[in-house]
This record gives sequence, structure tokens and C-alpha cells, in this order.
Amino acid sequence: MSNTTVHAPYLIIGGGMTGAAAAIGIREIDPSGKIIMISAETSPPYDRPPLSKKLWDGKRTVGQIVAPLPGDVELHLGRHVTALNPDTREVTDDLGEVYTYDRLLLATGGTPRRLPFGGDAVNYYRTIADYRALREDVANGASFVVIGGGFIGSELAASLRKQGSHVVMVFPDDGIANRVFPPDMADYLNNYYREHGVQVLNRENVVGIEADDGWAVVVTDIGTRLTTDRVVAGIGIIPSVDLAREAGLAVGNGIIVDEFLRTARPEIYAAGDVADYPDPALGIRRRVEHADAARAMGRVAGRNMAGAAESYRYLPLFYSDLFELGYEAVGLCDTRLEMVEDWQERFRKGVIYYMKDGRVAGVLLMDIWDRTDEGRALIESGETYTAEQLIGRIR
Ligand code: NAP
Repeated sequence: MSNTTVHAPYLIIGGGMTGAAAAIGIREIDPSGKIIMISAETSPPYDRPPLSKKLWDGKRTVGQIVAPLPGDVELHLGRHVTALNPDTREVTDDLGEVYTYDRLLLATGGTPRRLPFGGDAVNYYRTIADYRALREDVANGASFVVIGGGFIGSELAASLRKQGSHVVMVFPDDGIANRVFPPDMADYLNNYYREHGVQVLNRENVVGIEADDGWAVVVTDIGTRLTTDRVVAGIGIIPSVDLAREAGLAVGNGIIVDEFLRTARPEIYAAGDVADYPDPALGIRRRVEHADAARAMGRVAGRNMAGAAESYRYLPLFYSDLFELGYEAVGLCDTRLEMVEDWQERFRKGVIYYMKDGRVAGVLLMDIWDRTDEGRALIESGETYTAEQLIGRIR
């Protein structure tokens, strides 16, 4: 075990998209201060969205998803940070290496939520290593059970099916992506996936995974037994807040930061999936688990670490592809809000507005592209709108 101590004016814990964007942000302000990035992954930072989409439809290769990163960042890959002492400004990794810093960024993201059974038989899809494993399974002609109907479940089931694989989706909710889409649209999507050859088992909860002579048998609460080669799960992530908590930093839904993405320790910042930040446009604190947020928040955190004093005010977008259907969305797109639907072609092309106290909190643009700025402007206006004022507004 080495016991060296290295110092960096800028230390980034986490080698995902947020960390990479932060390094770029730092370099925009400080051209030379040393940046060290510690990452549990063995690959340098890469873009995550293509893992469930473009890597499968041939629009990207693994070599093309490398995240932009200043060339002089010192990468310490394959390391887990085990301790953070904010008083001495020291960080220790699992190889015993000690790092001191002037400014620290916690860009620790999240780890996939796991089922209490199934062990390593389940691919909890999140990393490039998970992608490679799945590619190999597809090449070997494997069949799949995909657990979860959220972003990973819906995108991956479509991508695997497009490869010609046999795919069963199983999830407890009523419909695919039912946190985003109104109930009748979630029903429509279930049938749309079935038409594309995916067996969709909604309202079924997986209660066990048994091994059987090289196969996995997925058992649900209503007694369905699905025999398959491989099980993949996307059942959400748990933000990685342990380091922050152990260091005495405030943790809510994630690591609590202010508008400058600083924790209560002004030299420690947090950004990306792990940060619980104030969103001025929506007037709430929130945590966002999307790539656009990771890039934008990481960059602002990096700039602020290097001396800029910019408040993070950006409303990030997210997007998804479900076979031929696709959308972009901005703000809070949550079916627990009141919704105004404006379809040009029902469930295939149109806009869903998500309303909170008469104001627009989120806008989802189904098969309408490059118009998120208009959605953003509606949200940021803070004005109240009636359904009549919204219908026909974005076409
Ligand atoms: P997710 O979108 O949060 O979906 C998780 C789904 O799993 C939810 O539908 C959830 O149901 C369900 N679930 C929870 N516990 C379950 C259980 N025990 N059994 C079966 N289903 C269960 O998370 P994800 O799909 O795993 O994606 C992981 C992360 O990557 C998320 O942060 C996501 O935002 C991000 N991601 C984003 C994109 C994109 O922006 N296009 C694409 C891929 C991944 P309930 O809703 O009822 O809890």
C-alpha cells in the first residue's frame, strides 16, 4: 500500500460527466492550477446517455462517447475514496493515497438500487462495463428479462429488441415511464412495446430470482416464472452521499448545496446526480439525474471552484427514445402534477404541460425538436396560464 500525499488546488471526486464538466469549468477560469480527479471507474469520463440508446443503434461507437476533458487532468482511476476530513482538507482512497486540496468537488453521482436477491446474476445497468457485458450477451443470442419501466428499462428494452433479442419487461407500475406520461399514454406505450415484440408485464413485482442450470428464473408476486438467459435491472439510483454525511455535511434528498453549488463548507462543492440544489425557476430544491444537468452543473461548479461567483440557474432538459418515438423535455415532468395535453397526433406528436398552481412547471415535447427554449421561457416566466392559453402554443 502506498502512503503518499499529493496536493491539488482542485480535487474532484467522481469521474462521470459532472466531474469532466467541472474540470472544463475550472480551466475556463484557471489555465494551470493542478486538477486531480479520482474515479471508481477504470475508464476515463464518458457520456452516459448513449449506453442505453446510440451505442445500440449504431449512431455512436464506444470510442466516440469519451467525455471532453482538459488534457492535463491527473486521473486516478479505479479508486474508491474511503475518507474525507474537511478540517484538514484531506481525502484518502482505498489504496491509502492521501490527497489534500484547496477546493473539492463531490461529483459522486449515484449507485443503482439493487434487489435484495439475485446477486451478480443481475446486470444493474449504469456503466460502460455493464454495456460491454450486455453486448456480449446479445452477441451470444441471449434472451433478457428487463426489470423496471423507467428510463433504463424503457430505453434498454427497445434497444435490445431492435437487436432481435427476446425481451420481457416486468415492472410494478401501470405503464412504461408512468412517472412522465399520463395514465392513458402509459397504456398506449405498453401496447406499443408489445406491438414491437416486447412482452410487457406491468403491475407485476419481481419477488425472487432463482438459478436453474445456467438459466435465471425471475419470479413475480402473482406467480409468473420467467426463464431467461440474462436479467437486467433499472430500478433507480441511490445518490452517493455517504462521504458527505460522514464528513458532517448536510444531506437531504442529496448533498445540500447553495445557488453557487457550495456546501456549508465554502471550499467543498457538490454537483450532478448527487446534489440537492435550489432551482430558482421552479422555486424548489431538487436533485436531477440527467446528463444535461450533469454537464451544466458540473461546469458552473468548476468555474466557481476557480473563483467565479456564478449562481446556477439553468433549467436542464432531458430526452428519451422509445423505438420510433422520441421526446425532449424540460422542468418538472411529473404525472403527480396537473397536465395539459396538446396532441397533433395522439401520444405520438404533441406537447404535455405539467402545471403547478396554475404555472407551467414542466414541458414535454413529443416528436417536436429543438424547442425546449420555448418551454423553458414558459416555466421561467412564472406567469399563470390557462389550458386554452397553452393549447396550440408550441407546434
Ligand atoms: P428511473 O427512471 O428512476 O426508473 C426506475 C423505475 O424502477 C421506476 O419506474 C420505479 O418505479 C421502478 N422501481 C423501483 N423499485 C423497483 C423494484 N423493486 N422493482 C421494479 N421496479 C422498481 O431509474 P432508471 O431507469 O434505473 O435509471 C437510472 C438513472 O439513470 C436515473 O437517474 C435516470 O434518470 C437516468 N437515466 C436517464 C435517462 C434519460 O434521461 N433519458 C436514460 C437512462 C437513464 P416507481 O416510479 O414506482 O418508483
